[in-house]
Amino acid sequence: PQRQPQRRCRFCEKKPQLRRPKTGHAVCRDCFFWAFEAETHDTIVSSRMFSPGERVAIGASGGKDSTVLAYLLKTLNERHNYGLDLRLLAIDEGIAGYRDDSLDALRRTEVSLGLPLTIFTYRDLYGWTMDEVVRAAGRRSNCTFCGVFRRQALDRGAGHLKADKLATGHNADDVAETVVMNLLRGDAARLSRCADGVTHTGGGLPARCKPLKYAYEKEIVLYAYFKRLDYFATECLYAPAAYRGHARALVKDLERARPAALLHIIQAAEQIRFRTDARMPELDTCRLCGYVSSQPVCKACVLLDGLNSGNPGWLLANPRLVRLSNSSSECLLMLGVIAPNAAVAPAPGAAARDRHALRRRILDDFLNLFFGIAF
Ligand code: SF4
Ligand code: ZN
Repeated sequence: PQRQPQRRCRFCEKKPQLRRPKTGHAVCRDCFFWAFEAETHDTIVSSRMFSPGERVAIGASGGKDSTVLAYLLKTLNERHNYGLDLRLLAIDEGIAGYRDDSLDALRRTEVSLGLPLTIFTYRDLYGWTMDEVVRAAGRRSNCTFCGVFRRQALDRGAGHLKADKLATGHNADDVAETVVMNLLRGDAARLSRCADGVTHTGGGLPARCKPLKYAYEKEIVLYAYFKRLDYFATECLYAPAAYRGHARALVKDLERARPAALLHIIQAAEQIRFRTDARMPELDTCRLCGYVSSQPVCKACVLLDGLNSGNPGWLLANPRLVRLSNSSSECLLMLGVIAPNAAVAPAPGAAARDRHALRRRILDDFLNLFFGIAF
């Protein structure tokens, strides 16, 4: 049956101008702004995301999410006296025809919001642009390189700015997608923290915050549209990553069938606590570059080693080593730092059995929680 068009905004006397994708409420523009901003404020306050006097680096790309995030943080900081020193931090991956255009949009945002912008480039940090990486390593693993490099680049940039927190524009769709992806990979360490609004990495790195973790992507687009925010709307030339693409499609299907599914996935993941025998990474410093790392050699150095030695292809043969390796010896083995021997090489089949058992357990836990809490 077709829904009757509503004559009044859910919250006031005005004519509704949109139906909120998250709640289905017909609302006027002003009440949409009010609700969207109040929900973000609530996310920030309820998780004690920031403290007065902190410097917050906003990871900004010129895209819709980070542009809305920068606008909202500035607005809420003034409205509610958070007392934050806000900075824009951008990473230039070196993707011609994509990042250069989005950085132009970001420079206009720098001016319109009056927030200082700092840009770090992959070329300066790693000696490679993404365009060069793709030429050397092909298209299949580009997002693995890019993701590892960006994560570290943001940390380095935030460190350079002496920021206390690093705020990113991850929205509810992104978080739900990451939950599903970590579940499907059996990645217990990441699954248990990927839905957190604030994640402390330790090692002197700034905590990462996701003020938009409950904001639906569709509402971010509507907010940017009605606020006439200036952002760059094209997808990366090298997107999407194959596996994340499947998780994304699944999450979008679920949202179509039931809009609240996104929130339920996030809320279910927030409740997951693992038994203490699930291995969590411990922080150390990389033996090659000295940067904070959970492995003896950080992922960026492992990838750079492949690129610089003209042999990035090993990644395609064994992507799990980069993505999932929790064992300190695996990276060193690959780099030839230590020789393989019985002491470090697990018995054949044992690791696979462990992983299989872990996956089963996570899936059981997740399904119990998911259906117990969400429905
Ligand atoms: Fe990098 Fe992949 Fe994102 Fe493009 S889609 S910016 S290659 S992570
Ligand atoms: Zn209204």
